Amino acid sequence: MNPDEMTRWDLSDLLPSPEAADDAIAELERLVGEMEALRDRLSPDMPEEEFLAAVRQYEAITLALHRLAGYAYLWFAEDTQDQRALAFRSKIEQLGAEIQNRVLFFSLWWKGLDDTPAQRLMRNAGDYRYFLESLRRFKPHTLTEPEERIINIKDVNGVNALITLYDMITNRFTFELEVDGEKKRLTREELMVYVRDPRPELRAAAYQELYRVYGEQGNLLGQIYAYRVRDWYNENLRLRHFATPIAVRNLLNDIPDAAVDTLLDICRENASVFQRYFRLKARWLGMDRLRRYDIYAPIAGAEKSYEYAEAIDLVLDTYQAFSPEMAEHARRVFAERHIDAEVRPGKQGGAFSYGVLPGLTPYVLLNYTGKARDVAVMAHELGHAIHSSLAGHHSVLTFHPSLPLAETASVFGEMLLTDRLLREEEDEAVRRDLLVAVLDDAYATVMRQAYFALFEREAHDLVNQGRTIDELCERYMGNLTEQFGDAVEISDEFRWEWVSIPHIYHTPFYVYAYSFGQLLVLSLYQRYKEEGETFKPAYLKILAYGGSESPQRILSEAGIDITSPEFWRGGFDVISGMIDELEAMEKK
Ligand SMILES: [Zn+2]
Repeated sequence: MNPDEMTRWDLSDLLPSPEAADDAIAELERLVGEMEALRDRLSPDMPEEEFLAAVRQYEAITLALHRLAGYAYLWFAEDTQDQRALAFRSKIEQLGAEIQNRVLFFSLWWKGLDDTPAQRLMRNAGDYRYFLESLRRFKPHTLTEPEERIINIKDVNGVNALITLYDMITNRFTFELEVDGEKKRLTREELMVYVRDPRPELRAAAYQELYRVYGEQGNLLGQIYAYRVRDWYNENLRLRHFATPIAVRNLLNDIPDAAVDTLLDICRENASVFQRYFRLKARWLGMDRLRRYDIYAPIAGAEKSYEYAEAIDLVLDTYQAFSPEMAEHARRVFAERHIDAEVRPGKQGGAFSYGVLPGLTPYVLLNYTGKARDVAVMAHELGHAIHSSLAGHHSVLTFHPSLPLAETASVFGEMLLTDRLLREEEDEAVRRDLLVAVLDDAYATVMRQAYFALFEREAHDLVNQGRTIDELCERYMGNLTEQFGDAVEISDEFRWEWVSIPHIYHTPFYVYAYSFGQLLVLSLYQRYKEEGETFKPAYLKILAYGGSESPQRILSEAGIDITSPEFWRGGFDVISGMIDELEAMEKK
């Protein structure tokens, strides 16, 4: 078997066949039955060993369930048209929900326990400690059981229903766009393809149509947002005594409020960095000033393509040069046939890496077509796989990195690859494409998301002061003006952009984690360039933690203070450096 050939993956390391699932399900049922039998034994003065045995039982259930869920997910991803795969996935999802309900009593009991017995029970919990602590983090904000039950019951047809309505309304939207003399009816996803079109008038038309449709329902969607925000306030600030709306998310992410404030402050302070990039982009596009429509405009360059085998060599070699240990983990993905790279009808689009179980080589899905972007995606997903593998000695309950650290190895790997390609590439047009791709991504991940979070912070205040939807739109335009300065012209329909961002409805303040992750990697990369070899052990250690400690503790051990403005500024220095390089090319 030649590992350079694009093949389907082999899922037999998870289950020998779909039929074997019956035995695995029976085993899972047995484990859950045993767990239920432990219920009456749970008490504040139970022996430590018995408590840890219950945790291990919970872990065994999680492992068994992840194995089945992993198989179901991957089988369906390789062929979404396979009815058997779909039926199997539905069955396992149903099973998963039932089992979670049956073992819920354990985490509820643990969260409700007083501090003294809890401390005693987890003093020797080893790798389970952070998992157990995380469950208890919300204890100070937890209400009595009957109150919690009422909130749960009322949420189903209350705020959750409201968010469902938002999805139903916006998912029904269709958009009309005239392309090459032909009127097309498009979904949002299809419409957004045209914001990257080389034709400036088409980019403008796509955005105008997007916000015409959202704007027509703007008051309705804005009102849904206002209800969402008031509910957030009533529950979290009045009943649960959080100090601010964003503090809820910070506690979920286990990141101190001060660190998030600093991150957002520093993004604001560096708005001019991307403004400089947009001025440069305007010159390359031959425009006096970039319009908001042109942010993602392509700059005509060289389309270089890479054979699959060539891409593998390039990526593995890049990891090898940085760390042979990392390269070894990446190589296993190919050697064990845990990668599915070819484009096939019915196969899931995009790319992902899925670390199903600790100690098992992760599965990687790509849709490889040979573009430079595909090579970067390969480096990115293998970075995720390496991260999972390095953390493979942890429990299934703690090996997944938490959200703010989840993109560390993947984006860092992409940076290594870009740097290498820039060093080796002599064709100026290819070099420029590489840098432009990195900067476009960095803008969308760092600055755009940070400004969404800044808007959310203000919007929550404004709504709670009883301001109108119009005032929120005004504030949103102010937010854009600050973000783009005079580098980008913003037309008025962008006042409705905020009602088109599902994240701020679904998961308030989720978005800053994107800025956090990307800037963290850029700062780490900067340190690597300064420190060289001595940086590597500290970096590998960050990854090896997985999700077994708080992000702050993991990073502080590597000498990183996430509450320090200097740390976050380091990330922007890297971005500035790349813009310098681009400007130097311009002058040649
Ligand atoms: Zn990723």
